[in-house]
Amino acid sequence: MIIVVKKEARENQIDILTRWLEGQGIRVGRTEGNNQAILGLVGNTKSIDEEFISQFEIVESVRRVSEKFKRANRKFHPEDAVIDCNGVKIGGGHFAIIAGPCSVESEAQINEVAKAVQASGATLLRGGAFKPRTSPYDFQGMKGQGLELLEIAKAATGMPLVTEIMNADHLPLFENVDVLQIGARNMQNFELLKAVGRTNKVVLLKRGLANTLNELLMSAEYIMSEGNPNVIFCERGIRTFETYTRNTLDLSAVTALKEMSHLPVVVDPSHATGKANMVEPMAMAAAAAGADGLMIEVHNDPAHALCDGPQSLTPAQFDRVVKRVMAIREAVKATE
Ligand code: PEP
Ligand code: MN
Repeated sequence: MIIVVKKEARENQIDILTRWLEGQGIRVGRTEGNNQAILGLVGNTKSIDEEFISQFEIVESVRRVSEKFKRANRKFHPEDAVIDCNGVKIGGGHFAIIAGPCSVESEAQINEVAKAVQASGATLLRGGAFKPRTSPYDFQGMKGQGLELLEIAKAATGMPLVTEIMNADHLPLFENVDVLQIGARNMQNFELLKAVGRTNKVVLLKRGLANTLNELLMSAEYIMSEGNPNVIFCERGIRTFETYTRNTLDLSAVTALKEMSHLPVVVDPSHATGKANMVEPMAMAAAAAGADGLMIEVHNDPAHALCDGPQSLTPAQFDRVVKRVMAIREAVKATE
């Protein structure tokens, strides 16, 4: 249920209403809309009588929200969320470019890639330390040591870090990580979602290989219901009958998610296509479709990458992608 409060309402009147609702066992979240407060009610609101609430002098309107996701719902928060990733903003017109290798492989590799992508305009550095691999015999990542190498690259460039967490027990190791990535395979690992929801770190939530948008929104709700509002969605392609590409990029997810939720949406054209030559056109299409950012895999030597080489761009290719993506953004803005 949401309650839109009249513009002229005084703070103490809003407090009285909030306290009354809390007395009924309802949790009340407040957001500021266009100069007026919006109260988002979560809990068993069935017992709350709309007629009764409407009679409070300060109440402009009362509406029931039928969707099961509440905190992630744009109805609770009409304006775009702007998420601050340790100084780098994303959402509400702020466009972020997350780039780096699939996996951290060595100090030289992560530093070289970090400096190159930053010079081309990347605003956040990615790199996997704990890798979810289909085969247990494949490279599993440098784990804790990989995180240390990421911290060295962060110190050298000042770029906030994005890296995947697979196990809540590892959280203490992620202290200097700015954005916790929940990978596609863990999108419905509810205990992990709840654990990152109890932190104050930004969470990049990737869509599962075969998950609906409603399920993705409910996963965001798991994180947010624990108190962490800093969630960013990532569309990274879904599994369909098509095998030419690694996955099928669902660009309509950008529009759909932004209609349903106020949270930012990033597109990952690398995992969506699995092919380096498709990253540029899909990145441009994502920017045109209104994505709030991109996540792109870049490697200094893709042919010898320990993970996801075929979809990794060289720094030179990445540089061109950023230029063309920015040109698309400018062209779209010019028509607004
Ligand atoms: C990754 O970002 O390297 C990754 C493993 O992505 P996904 O979870 O989308 O497969
Ligand atoms: Mn990868």
